[in-house]
Amino acid sequence: MPDPQSVVTAPLEAKSPFELRVNLSKDVPDIDVRSALATGDMGFLHSFTTGATVDGPGVRVVAWTSGCMFRCLYCHNPDTWTMSNGMPVPVSRAIDELRKYQQGLKIMGGGFTLSGGEPLMQHRFAVKLFAAARGMGIHTALDTNGFYGDKLSDAELETIDLVLLDLKTWNPDRHKHLTGMDNGPTLQFARRLAARKRPIWVRYVLVPGLTDDLNDIAQTARFAAGLGNVTRVDVLPFHQMGKYKWKQLGLSYALADVEPPSQALVDRVCGAFRTAGLKTV
Ligand code: SF4
Repeated sequence: MPDPQSVVTAPLEAKSPFELRVNLSKDVPDIDVRSALATGDMGFLHSFTTGATVDGPGVRVVAWTSGCMFRCLYCHNPDTWTMSNGMPVPVSRAIDELRKYQQGLKIMGGGFTLSGGEPLMQHRFAVKLFAAARGMGIHTALDTNGFYGDKLSDAELETIDLVLLDLKTWNPDRHKHLTGMDNGPTLQFARRLAARKRPIWVRYVLVPGLTDDLNDIAQTARFAAGLGNVTRVDVLPFHQMGKYKWKQLGLSYALADVEPPSQALVDRVCGAFRTAGLKTV
């Protein structure tokens, strides 16, 4: 692996995750990618945003990693699926960047969120960033599908103040259809966080015709409520902002004609979570 400090990357300026980004680390040899993943000395970032207000409490600095093991039918950032689409960033540089916002984040009651893609595809990088943020007294949040939750030790979990857990569905067959993967590891991670009393915000993407079955939602809600550590549920209405990415990447997009859910459906789904005793916003 090259010295991470010597890696030349584009400026780490704030970028929207809705921008299509491809091949930003195509010149990094596989052996260096493997070394980066093993050590966490270098990560692969799709984008970096300041001022976000929906990815945890307060105003957030959010880093979006590249790489994901799921293939969600409704993914609005399919360019984050591939690690090599992300920009190589030495962890020391990411930490320096975060330090610039240290005081402001504390004053505004905000923090740092690592999102994706799936951040735990780069769990060593994630662990180093969270430890550094904690050292600066910055609130930390991990936005994850939970599939690789077992890659974090109990001590590493303690450096994460909040987990934004994407619960796609409680139903195993529907989950496999939606994502291509089993939901067992995600549910197991949720139970482990509950046992360790680590707070969770559940994120539930509502897609008409795919994730709007109220019986299924009621079961998902009962599972989440039974954990005892879910402090909030965000019902996220499906949208088509990522449609152009599927087209430009040459991917077949099954949801091209699906409309966003109506407000009435969003309200019904929020109601189902509230009926289980959960708080929605
Ligand atoms: S887990 Fe997130 S990034 Fe991965 S495919 Fe699903 S929606 Fe996309």
